[in-house]
Amino acid sequence: MIVVMRKDAEKNDLEGVIERIEGVGLDVHLSEGVEHTIVGVVGDVRHIRPEDLQVLPGVLRVVRIMHPFKLASREFQGETTEIVLNGCSIGGSAVTVMAGPCAVEDRETLLETARGVRAAGAQVLRGGAFKPRTSPYSFQGLGEEGLQIMAEAREETGLLIVTEVLSPGDVELVSGYADILQIGARNMQNYSLLHEVGASDRPVLLKRGMMSSVEEWLMAAEYVLSGGNHRVMLCERGIRTFEGYTRNTLDLSAVPLVKSLSHLPVVVDPSHGTGRSDLVPAMSRAAVAAGADGLLVEVHPRPEKALSDGPQSLTIPGFEALMEGLDPVARSIDRSVAVAGCTG
Ligand code: PEP
Ligand code: MN
Repeated sequence: MIVVMRKDAEKNDLEGVIERIEGVGLDVHLSEGVEHTIVGVVGDVRHIRPEDLQVLPGVLRVVRIMHPFKLASREFQGETTEIVLNGCSIGGSAVTVMAGPCAVEDRETLLETARGVRAAGAQVLRGGAFKPRTSPYSFQGLGEEGLQIMAEAREETGLLIVTEVLSPGDVELVSGYADILQIGARNMQNYSLLHEVGASDRPVLLKRGMMSSVEEWLMAAEYVLSGGNHRVMLCERGIRTFEGYTRNTLDLSAVPLVKSLSHLPVVVDPSHGTGRSDLVPAMSRAAVAAGADGLLVEVHPRPEKALSDGPQSLTIPGFEALMEGLDPVARSIDRSVAVAGCTG
């Protein structure tokens, strides 16, 4: 059970609610967000009736939630969460497109890519400065220098930037540059990192772990939400199966499933989801048809020279062609593709 406090609730209203819950032997989990304070009732909720809490001063509403994920559930919030950043909305009626290289490699290549994806209609620039590589001998990213290059690209193009944060100790540094913090598949259950981004004021793009169930993924989102950060978007990026022709198996059934279970926006990454640039356009259209709120696509001006994930990266003309194919699909389900840039 969850108690949502009114915006204007006083400190002693909150204390009254906590006392009432603890008085019957239950525990409390407090989540103090910018909008509302939320009191989670932890324990056997049969010991208390929602009506007993609803009448207390300062209480906006009491919700009984059957799923293990509470704040992430559709029962907690009926409407899809809309994350508005600089006039650009993720989770609204338009589909948001995030595109860019796997990794920031150097200033010129990044700026060339940023201009290219901006011209083709993207709203958000992706690019990793801290790279989680399977091999310690592979390119690990430029670190803070990469973040500075991303910030320069934002300055020039007006694109928002999304970039991965790998460790809890870097959340503050990455937040200084990024508009959206990406949590990678390998870190989906890194609870100290989730805890840290839960305390941050930056929206979070939470990738699904490559071997994670939908419920584990939503529970990871719950960590961030319960930490007080309510701006979370989920990103399906493929799960590991026995199939060898693709890098991962893109689970598009997760899109309508998660959208029925949760109010959080869902983004699809067809690049890591397939590992093959030739499959990316079709899977992007399919993702939009399935109801995705956004796409995260890897683009590189010269994929054959890319320092990471070249085989799954589209060229700039390839990305332009993808963008042209998205609009009719979005329209067929009464949506649109967001306009280029985010200057609102
Ligand atoms: C990435 O987006 O570059 C990335 C490393 O993705 P994932 O965490 O999904 O593997
Ligand atoms: Mn990549």
